[in-house]
Amino acid sequence: MDSKNYIRWIRDKVGHDKIILTFAGGCIFNDKGEILLQRRGDTNKWGFPGGAVEIGETPQMAAVREAKEETGLDVEVGKVIGVFTDLNIRYSSGDEAQSIVIAYELLPVGGELYCDQIETKELRYFSKDEKPELFTKSHDDLWNEIFASDKKIRELAGANMDIDLVSENVAWNQSSCAWNEAENTKEHKCAVKDTSICKYFCGIKYLDSVLCSYPYEKNEV
Ligand code: SF4
Repeated sequence: MDSKNYIRWIRDKVGHDKIILTFAGGCIFNDKGEILLQRRGDTNKWGFPGGAVEIGETPQMAAVREAKEETGLDVEVGKVIGVFTDLNIRYSSGDEAQSIVIAYELLPVGGELYCDQIETKELRYFSKDEKPELFTKSHDDLWNEIFASDKKIRELAGANMDIDLVSENVAWNQSSCAWNEAENTKEHKCAVKDTSICKYFCGIKYLDSVLCSYPYEKNEV
């Protein structure tokens, strides 16, 4: 069996019959919180980078490989965003399938954006308000999940990244921290300088906003 093309191998046996296929991929953000999508060579529609898990691969390995092949970026696999299913897929070839799509947050660690003009015709970052037509229901569901989660993130404007916010004399209004507000305290110090301090700390939004997931722990959003 060709371990690099499980789908072709199984199609040789079952023809166009419906099969269950497992895909892995996910979401790469830029520092503005926009999402990287690829315009696919096969359908000309937009989708998240990802593809079929091959024999001998974990879903995480497949997500890393597909991200490299389809975007040129080297990524590390972060948290699972969700698992999505299309019950009825019919490809132009006549092949039928039911998909299981495992979507991760993918963290770029190297490489450069690259379109091979075969699998990927174009790469572009999209903001929440620029949703293009996506090529399957699973990708639609993933988009909706990402931005539904985003609604849980609170944004505190006015942080100054040059200030040591962990010390006593913070120079911005730490009381506006939702956690402090809820407990009517000033005890909780922002985690800008040490992200291990606060379990609600989700990141920084350029230039001066702290993103907090309170009351959800960051692993829940
Ligand atoms: S990161 Fe934590 S301490 Fe800092 S503002 Fe957000 S919830 Fe408050």
